[in-house]
Amino acid sequence: MKFGNYECTSVELGHFLIDGGTMFGIVPKVLWEKRTPADAKNRMQMNMRGLLIRGNGKTILVDVGIGTKLTPKEKTVWAFKEEMGNMDAVLVQHGLTPAEITDVIITHLHFDHVGGATFIKNGKLTPTFPNANYHIQKSQWETALNPHPRDSNSFPQINFKPLEEAGVLTLLDGPGELSDGIDLLVTHGHTTGQQHPLIKGDNTSLFYCADLIPTAAHLPLSWIMAYDNLPMTIMEEKHAILERAYKENWVLFFEHDCKITAVSVQRGQKGVEIKKEIVL
Ligand SMILES: [Zn+2]
Repeated sequence: MKFGNYECTSVELGHFLIDGGTMFGIVPKVLWEKRTPADAKNRMQMNMRGLLIRGNGKTILVDVGIGTKLTPKEKTVWAFKEEMGNMDAVLVQHGLTPAEITDVIITHLHFDHVGGATFIKNGKLTPTFPNANYHIQKSQWETALNPHPRDSNSFPQINFKPLEEAGVLTLLDGPGELSDGIDLLVTHGHTTGQQHPLIKGDNTSLFYCADLIPTAAHLPLSWIMAYDNLPMTIMEEKHAILERAYKENWVLFFEHDCKITAVSVQRGQKGVEIKKEIVL
Protein backbone atom coordinates (compact mmCIF):
# COMPACT_ATOMS: atom_id res chain seq x y z
CA MET A 1 0.00 0.00 0.00
CA LYS A 2 1.36 3.39 -0.97
CA PHE A 3 1.78 6.36 1.40
CA GLY A 4 3.21 9.41 -0.35
CA ASN A 5 6.14 8.25 -2.47
CA TYR A 6 6.65 5.07 -0.47
CA GLU A 7 5.37 1.55 -1.00
CA CYS A 8 4.83 0.07 2.47
CA THR A 9 4.67 -3.68 3.10
CA SER A 10 4.40 -5.66 6.33
CA VAL A 11 7.19 -8.17 7.01
CA GLU A 12 6.45 -11.23 9.14
CA LEU A 13 9.35 -11.97 11.51
CA GLY A 14 7.95 -14.89 13.48
CA HIS A 15 6.18 -15.08 16.80
CA PHE A 16 6.71 -16.01 20.44
CA LEU A 17 4.64 -16.64 23.55
CA ILE A 18 4.43 -14.25 26.48
CA ASP A 19 2.53 -14.18 29.76
CA GLY A 20 -0.82 -12.52 29.01
CA GLY A 21 -0.95 -10.75 32.37
CA THR A 22 2.27 -8.85 31.67
CA MET A 23 0.84 -7.64 28.37
CA PHE A 24 -2.20 -6.00 29.95
CA GLY A 25 -0.96 -4.59 33.27
CA ILE A 26 -3.88 -3.87 35.60
CA VAL A 27 -6.58 -5.07 33.18
CA PRO A 28 -8.25 -8.21 34.64
CA LYS A 29 -7.89 -11.46 32.72
CA VAL A 30 -11.67 -11.85 32.40
CA LEU A 31 -11.54 -8.78 30.15
CA TRP A 32 -8.32 -9.27 28.15
CA GLU A 33 -8.84 -12.96 27.39
CA LYS A 34 -12.00 -12.12 25.44
CA ARG A 35 -9.77 -10.34 22.92
CA THR A 36 -6.62 -12.43 23.22
CA PRO A 37 -6.99 -16.06 24.31
CA ALA A 38 -4.35 -17.50 26.66
CA ASP A 39 -2.93 -21.03 26.68
CA ALA A 40 -2.77 -23.40 29.71
CA LYS A 41 0.32 -21.52 30.96
CA ASN A 42 -1.46 -18.16 30.64
CA ARG A 43 0.61 -17.24 27.56
CA MET A 44 -0.58 -15.39 24.48
CA GLN A 45 0.96 -15.21 21.02
CA MET A 46 3.01 -12.15 20.06
CA ASN A 47 3.85 -11.69 16.40
CA MET A 48 6.78 -9.61 15.27
CA ARG A 49 5.89 -7.55 12.24
CA GLY A 50 8.43 -5.28 10.64
CA LEU A 51 7.68 -2.71 7.96
CA LEU A 52 9.37 -2.44 4.58
CA ILE A 53 9.35 1.09 3.11
CA ARG A 54 10.45 1.44 -0.52
CA GLY A 55 10.74 4.73 -2.41
CA ASN A 56 12.92 7.81 -3.08
CA GLY A 57 15.86 5.48 -3.77
CA LYS A 58 15.67 3.92 -0.31
CA THR A 59 14.80 0.46 0.97
CA ILE A 60 14.06 0.89 4.66
CA LEU A 61 13.26 -1.78 7.23
CA VAL A 62 11.55 -0.84 10.51
CA ASP A 63 12.37 -3.25 13.37
CA VAL A 64 13.93 -6.63 12.76
CA GLY A 65 12.48 -9.12 15.27
CA ILE A 66 14.34 -11.56 17.52
CA GLY A 67 16.88 -12.82 14.98
CA THR A 68 18.95 -16.00 15.31
CA LYS A 69 21.03 -15.56 18.47
CA LEU A 70 18.78 -16.89 21.25
CA THR A 71 20.26 -19.66 23.41
CA PRO A 72 18.45 -23.04 23.35
CA LYS A 73 16.99 -22.23 26.79
CA GLU A 74 15.72 -18.82 25.62
CA LYS A 75 14.16 -20.42 22.55
CA THR A 76 12.25 -22.79 24.83
CA VAL A 77 11.18 -20.02 27.23
CA TRP A 78 9.80 -17.90 24.39
CA ALA A 79 8.64 -20.83 22.22
CA PHE A 80 10.50 -19.17 19.36
CA LYS A 81 11.48 -21.03 16.19
CA GLU A 82 14.82 -19.71 15.02
CA GLU A 83 14.19 -20.18 11.30
CA MET A 84 11.62 -17.39 11.59
CA GLY A 85 14.42 -14.97 12.48
CA ASN A 86 16.55 -15.67 9.41
CA MET A 87 16.63 -12.42 7.43
CA ASP A 88 17.76 -14.01 4.15
CA ALA A 89 14.66 -16.22 4.24
CA VAL A 90 12.40 -13.37 5.35
CA LEU A 91 13.55 -10.90 2.69
CA VAL A 92 13.61 -13.33 -0.24
CA GLN A 93 9.82 -13.40 0.08
CA HIS A 94 9.91 -9.71 -0.81
CA GLY A 95 12.41 -10.16 -3.64
CA LEU A 96 15.24 -8.67 -1.57
CA THR A 97 18.54 -9.60 0.05
CA PRO A 98 19.92 -8.08 3.29
CA ALA A 99 22.55 -6.22 1.21
CA GLU A 100 19.80 -4.21 -0.52
CA ILE A 101 18.49 -2.64 2.70
CA THR A 102 19.72 0.98 2.82
CA ASP A 103 18.35 1.99 6.23
CA VAL A 104 17.17 0.21 9.35
CA ILE A 105 14.99 2.11 11.80
CA ILE A 106 15.07 0.46 15.23
CA THR A 107 12.15 1.70 17.34
CA HIS A 108 13.91 0.68 20.55
CA LEU A 109 16.49 -1.84 21.69
CA HIS A 110 14.35 -4.48 23.43
CA PHE A 111 15.41 -7.90 22.11
CA ASP A 112 12.23 -8.59 20.16
CA HIS A 113 12.74 -5.42 18.09
CA VAL A 114 16.51 -5.39 17.48
CA GLY A 115 17.69 -9.02 17.78
CA GLY A 116 17.76 -9.42 14.00
CA ALA A 117 20.11 -6.45 13.58
CA THR A 118 23.16 -8.64 14.16
CA PHE A 119 24.02 -12.28 13.53
CA ILE A 120 26.98 -14.58 14.06
CA LYS A 121 29.14 -14.92 10.94
CA ASN A 122 32.31 -17.04 11.15
CA GLY A 123 32.08 -16.87 14.94
CA LYS A 124 31.86 -13.05 14.99
CA LEU A 125 28.92 -10.75 15.73
CA THR A 126 28.16 -8.91 12.47
CA PRO A 127 25.54 -6.40 11.24
CA THR A 128 22.87 -8.36 9.34
CA PHE A 129 22.36 -5.66 6.70
CA PRO A 130 25.91 -4.89 5.48
CA ASN A 131 25.10 -1.70 3.56
CA ALA A 132 22.52 -0.16 5.89
CA ASN A 133 22.61 2.79 8.25
CA TYR A 134 20.98 1.90 11.55
CA HIS A 135 18.92 4.74 13.06
CA ILE A 136 18.34 4.74 16.82
CA GLN A 137 17.47 7.49 19.30
CA LYS A 138 20.50 8.57 21.35
CA SER A 139 18.48 8.56 24.60
CA GLN A 140 17.40 4.95 23.91
CA TRP A 141 20.98 3.95 23.13
CA GLU A 142 22.16 5.35 26.44
CA THR A 143 19.24 3.69 28.26
CA ALA A 144 20.10 0.32 26.74
CA LEU A 145 23.78 0.58 27.66
CA ASN A 146 22.91 1.39 31.29
CA PRO A 147 19.52 -0.24 31.79
CA HIS A 148 17.45 -0.15 34.94
CA PRO A 149 17.25 -3.62 36.56
CA ARG A 150 13.52 -3.56 35.77
CA ASP A 151 14.06 -4.26 32.06
CA SER A 152 17.79 -5.00 31.85
CA ASN A 153 17.09 -8.57 30.65
CA SER A 154 15.46 -7.11 27.54
CA PHE A 155 18.64 -5.31 26.42
CA PRO A 156 21.31 -7.95 25.55
CA GLN A 157 24.17 -5.90 24.10
CA ILE A 158 25.05 -8.53 21.50
CA ASN A 159 22.03 -7.27 19.56
CA PHE A 160 23.24 -3.69 19.13
CA LYS A 161 26.78 -3.02 20.42
CA PRO A 162 28.36 -4.53 17.26
CA LEU A 163 26.59 -1.82 15.20
CA GLU A 164 28.67 0.86 16.92
CA GLU A 165 31.85 -1.15 16.47
CA ALA A 166 31.08 -1.54 12.72
CA GLY A 167 30.51 2.22 12.33
CA VAL A 168 26.98 1.82 10.90
CA LEU A 169 25.10 3.56 13.69
CA THR A 170 23.31 6.92 13.43
CA LEU A 171 22.17 8.24 16.80
CA LEU A 172 19.25 10.69 16.54
CA ASP A 173 18.48 13.43 19.01
CA GLY A 174 14.69 13.60 19.36
CA PRO A 175 11.89 13.72 16.79
CA GLY A 176 12.45 14.96 13.24
CA GLU A 177 12.41 14.09 9.55
CA LEU A 178 14.28 10.94 8.57
CA SER A 179 13.89 11.65 4.87
CA ASP A 180 11.42 13.47 2.63
CA GLY A 181 7.95 12.23 3.65
CA ILE A 182 9.04 10.16 6.64
CA ASP A 183 8.93 11.70 10.12
CA LEU A 184 10.11 10.07 13.32
CA LEU A 185 7.98 10.68 16.41
CA VAL A 186 9.40 9.89 19.84
CA THR A 187 7.71 8.60 23.00
CA HIS A 188 9.14 7.74 26.42
CA GLY A 189 6.44 5.90 28.40
CA HIS A 190 7.40 2.36 27.32
CA THR A 191 11.13 3.07 27.35
CA THR A 192 13.09 6.33 26.99
CA GLY A 193 13.50 7.34 23.35
CA GLN A 194 11.21 4.91 21.53
CA GLN A 195 10.79 6.18 17.95
CA HIS A 196 7.88 5.70 15.57
CA PRO A 197 8.06 6.31 11.80
CA LEU A 198 5.17 8.26 10.27
CA ILE A 199 5.02 7.79 6.49
CA LYS A 200 3.04 10.73 5.15
CA GLY A 201 0.59 10.63 2.26
CA ASP A 202 -1.87 13.20 0.90
CA ASN A 203 -5.06 11.81 2.45
CA THR A 204 -3.71 9.29 4.94
CA SER A 205 -0.44 8.46 6.69
CA LEU A 206 0.97 5.27 8.19
CA PHE A 207 2.07 5.27 11.84
CA TYR A 208 4.24 2.46 13.21
CA CYS A 209 2.98 1.97 16.78
CA ALA A 210 5.71 -0.40 18.03
CA ASP A 211 5.31 -0.87 21.79
CA LEU A 212 3.23 2.30 22.29
CA ILE A 213 0.20 0.29 21.07
CA PRO A 214 1.53 -3.25 20.56
CA THR A 215 -1.75 -4.87 19.49
CA ALA A 216 -5.23 -3.72 18.49
CA ALA A 217 -6.43 -4.78 21.97
CA HIS A 218 -4.23 -2.01 23.42
CA LEU A 219 -6.20 0.84 21.82
CA PRO A 220 -8.18 1.69 25.03
CA LEU A 221 -6.15 4.21 27.04
CA SER A 222 -5.77 2.17 30.23
CA TRP A 223 -4.91 -1.07 28.40
CA ILE A 224 -1.14 -0.79 28.77
CA MET A 225 1.58 -3.31 29.47
CA ALA A 226 3.22 -4.10 32.81
CA TYR A 227 6.42 -3.62 30.77
CA ASP A 228 5.71 0.10 30.30
CA ASN A 229 8.15 1.92 32.58
CA LEU A 230 6.10 5.12 32.93
CA PRO A 231 2.39 4.18 32.93
CA MET A 232 0.96 7.72 33.23
CA THR A 233 3.30 9.01 30.54
CA ILE A 234 2.43 6.28 28.05
CA MET A 235 -1.29 6.93 28.58
CA GLU A 236 -0.79 10.63 27.80
CA GLU A 237 1.33 9.80 24.76
CA LYS A 238 -1.18 7.26 23.49
CA HIS A 239 -4.01 9.75 23.94
CA ALA A 240 -2.15 12.40 21.92
CA ILE A 241 -1.25 9.94 19.15
CA LEU A 242 -4.81 8.57 18.90
CA GLU A 243 -6.24 12.10 18.67
CA ARG A 244 -3.86 12.87 15.79
CA ALA A 245 -4.62 9.49 14.20
CA TYR A 246 -8.32 10.30 14.20
CA LYS A 247 -8.00 13.92 13.04
CA GLU A 248 -5.38 13.21 10.35
CA ASN A 249 -6.87 9.92 9.12
CA TRP A 250 -3.82 7.78 9.96
CA VAL A 251 -3.47 4.04 9.53
CA LEU A 252 -2.05 2.45 12.71
CA PHE A 253 0.39 -0.43 12.17
CA PHE A 254 0.59 -3.05 14.94
CA GLU A 255 3.93 -4.81 15.40
CA HIS A 256 2.76 -7.49 17.84
CA ASP A 257 -0.87 -8.29 16.97
CA CYS A 258 -1.14 -11.93 15.87
CA LYS A 259 -4.11 -11.26 13.55
CA ILE A 260 -4.52 -7.57 12.74
CA THR A 261 -1.75 -5.85 10.76
CA ALA A 262 -3.14 -2.33 10.64
CA VAL A 263 -6.34 -0.33 11.11
CA SER A 264 -7.95 2.98 10.32
CA VAL A 265 -9.71 4.60 13.31
CA GLN A 266 -12.86 6.47 14.21
CA ARG A 267 -14.20 8.13 17.34
CA GLY A 268 -16.41 5.82 19.42
CA GLN A 269 -18.25 6.16 22.74
CA LYS A 270 -15.18 5.11 24.74
CA GLY A 271 -12.57 6.93 22.67
CA VAL A 272 -10.74 6.23 19.44
CA GLU A 273 -11.55 2.75 18.10
CA ILE A 274 -11.06 0.56 15.04
CA LYS A 275 -12.87 1.71 11.91
CA LYS A 276 -11.54 -0.81 9.44
CA GLU A 277 -8.81 -3.46 9.26
CA ILE A 278 -6.16 -2.81 6.64
CA VAL A 279 -3.79 -5.30 5.02
CA LEU A 280 -0.38 -4.10 3.84
ZN1 LIG B 1 9.59 -2.97 24.12
